[in-house]
Amino acid sequence: MFQNVLLAFDGSEPARRAAQMVAGLVRFCPSPVVLRVVVAYDPIPSYLGEPQLQSVIDERIAEAETVLRQALDVLGETPADIHTEILEGPAADAILRVAQTRGNDLIVMGSRGLGQITGLLLGSQSQKVLNHAPCPVLVVR
Ligand code: ATP
Ligand code: MG
Repeated sequence: MFQNVLLAFDGSEPARRAAQMVAGLVRFCPSPVVLRVVVAYDPIPSYLGEPQLQSVIDERIAEAETVLRQALDVLGETPADIHTEILEGPAADAILRVAQTRGNDLIVMGSRGLGQITGLLLGSQSQKVLNHAPCPVLVVR
């Protein structure tokens, strides 16, 4: 079973359902589970110079920390060794980078996120992760 799970979280309803699914799933894993919660923030334009650059980075990280706290709230007392990562996006690139470097054996994410386009089954980030992931991906609707 899974021992090294990555949860990608953007605060959306599908991501919340993904977090709830992880909370349930780890209870069925016989070995201790390391759970890595990943929040990516929007890439920062490279043309920004100081001092704007640092204040935009600080702002994005503060927002990501708020989103992370929401994930941890949903996870509650989930019996896992929970780690958190805040990375510059695009989200799919950040998720794939973590999965590669941390050797995750499962990625859990929502089918859609905070995007506004209606009618899509999968968002662009979940689609990209599904296309390139080095491990199984559980996509939660
Ligand atoms: P799009 O972004 O293409 O307009 P969308 O927002 O509906 O569409 P995605 O962004 O692909 O859909 O979101 C699908 C899932 O990807 C989310 O439920 C979440 O699990 C993960 N995800 C999206 N954005 C982030 C992010 N910034 N950080 C971490 N995970 C994310
Ligand atoms: Mg999105």
